[in-house]
Amino acid sequence: MKNNTWNRIKKMVWPYRKTVVLVTIIAILIDIIALAKPYLIRLVISECLDKNVYGKGIVTVTTISFTYIVFVILENILDYFNRKKSYSIGENIIFDLRNKLFKYMEKANVKFHDKVPSGKLFVRIMSDTEDVYTLFSDVVTTFAKDIFILIGIITIMIYISFKLAMLSLIVIPLIIISSYILTKLLNKAFTNVKNARTKLNTFFAESIYGVKLIKVFNRQKEKQEECEKNTTEFLEAIKPMGYLQGLLPATMSLIENLGISIIIWAVVSKVVGAEIDVGIVYMFTTYLKNMFDPINRMIENVEIVEEAVTSIDKIYEIIEDEDCLENFETGKCLDKIKGKIEFKNVWFAYEKDNWILKDVSFTIEPGQSIALVGKTGSGKNTIQNLINRFYTIQQGEIIIDGVNIYDINLEYLRKNIGTILQDPFIYAKSIKDNIKLFNEIDDETIKEAVELSSATNFINSLDNGLDEIAKERGNTFSAGQKQLLAFARIFALDPSIFILDEATANIDTTTEELIQKSVDKLSKNKTSIFIAHRLATIVNVDKIIVLSNGEIIEQGNHEQLVKSGGYYSSLYSAYYNSLV
Ligand code: ATP
Ligand code: MG
Repeated sequence: MKNNTWNRIKKMVWPYRKTVVLVTIIAILIDIIALAKPYLIRLVISECLDKNVYGKGIVTVTTISFTYIVFVILENILDYFNRKKSYSIGENIIFDLRNKLFKYMEKANVKFHDKVPSGKLFVRIMSDTEDVYTLFSDVVTTFAKDIFILIGIITIMIYISFKLAMLSLIVIPLIIISSYILTKLLNKAFTNVKNARTKLNTFFAESIYGVKLIKVFNRQKEKQEECEKNTTEFLEAIKPMGYLQGLLPATMSLIENLGISIIIWAVVSKVVGAEIDVGIVYMFTTYLKNMFDPINRMIENVEIVEEAVTSIDKIYEIIEDEDCLENFETGKCLDKIKGKIEFKNVWFAYEKDNWILKDVSFTIEPGQSIALVGKTGSGKNTIQNLINRFYTIQQGEIIIDGVNIYDINLEYLRKNIGTILQDPFIYAKSIKDNIKLFNEIDDETIKEAVELSSATNFINSLDNGLDEIAKERGNTFSAGQKQLLAFARIFALDPSIFILDEATANIDTTTEELIQKSVDKLSKNKTSIFIAHRLATIVNVDKIIVLSNGEIIEQGNHEQLVKSGGYYSSLYSAYYNSLV
């Protein structure tokens, strides 16, 4: 185990160190009882039954029986507490890890999310943390118990009869070797099952998600065949699990009985001394049986530990990477953002030297509205990303109200910018919560925001109005209705800068009119930036910026640009002709 993995484990367990110590102490107490039980029975057999001393022995037998029952009750009570406490360690650690990962994810910059795919992140949060859970609730807490009982058994055996102990322990290498081989095979089979399951899961998830597409293209039959192929693969993978799982107990039982036979043979054929009586034979065979579980468990645990260590490293590689975190603490908060935005010779590349913005300069005065126009991939959304400070530029300056954007407090900056994305995300929460978006906003403001965003009719048409719970990702709402909700979000927050990435989806004329009304209201007194896909919306803006390949090729208002006869004017005449 690497040194820093060890430190990470220590860090995880440290808050629960007292519970770990308690669990270990309880485990050792359980071991002592487990060791004492065969010894008690041996006493009854050797001292009372074997010597036929019932008269004297009645008291002894009664005492021993009573002690035995007390031990069994105590053992079970202790075992209950031990499990409860062990699970609580694992549960608390998984709780901490998931929260840490989620907190990191929320604070991580967009670059991190570009780099780490969401599926991977999901595995880290859900399944890697489960591995760590198993480590702490099963392995760590049983390890001390298993070691202690093995040492105890071997010591007592040697103490009673060295020769018989050695003979009994002959089977140990057999247990270790066969258990090792079978566990290896089982783990391999398990990995295959896991892979087949992941494939099957992905297939089903994708198929359910893309069910409409399949219908549209009439591919049900092909999908059915693919499904059969995947389920067959899964079946093939899971088959070996069955017989291996049956083989393991059978093999162990065989070795166990071999061990017992050796003990009986040794006693009967007087290979060991004559002092061995039936009580001792009973004790040795029981101890031998008691050794199987801990040995098996320890061998199985090797794999669990390996998996958990890999998972811990994967998790911590994420949460210890501070380069990907956004800094919300430092930076200036201005009195009130007026909304002047300047780009001064900005050069920007997502990846080294692949320049997406090349020497871009423009100014937007407070309260002005501008539109970004350009072919696909020209850099419109990149400009939006930079104003939201999702990325750091390589050269030049972005200045808001005279302050460099990278000197402004990030939380404050984002609070003052309201962005409407093309396909607004709708949570499976009430409409009201979707508008509030985890902010403290009173009902009055929400009502006003709904009114201003022209979403009143739409919301009133829902059975439960503002309290209606949205279905997954707002699937039952139209693109236009989702946009209206997104507008209500912005009205409720009232930022100084408003960015709209116009929906490309077709929106019916009535909703489009409603949206236009909202846009007009929102852009009043606010600096507004439109990433425009439909030219009709931008005819009235103060300035149109035309981008091509990351460079500004034209700037001006609609009349100026049409008159100049450049790219925009050709775009506009094409659009105009299509209307006629
Ligand atoms: P569209 O009209 O199609 O939405 P756009 O003008 O909004 O296009 P951008 O999204 O700004 O274009 O993309 C500009 C260029 O940057 C594209 O070539 C794109 O491939 C690249 N790009 C965008 N996002 C990233 C990213 N996260 N990592 C790397 N490259 C990116
Ligand atoms: Mg875009």
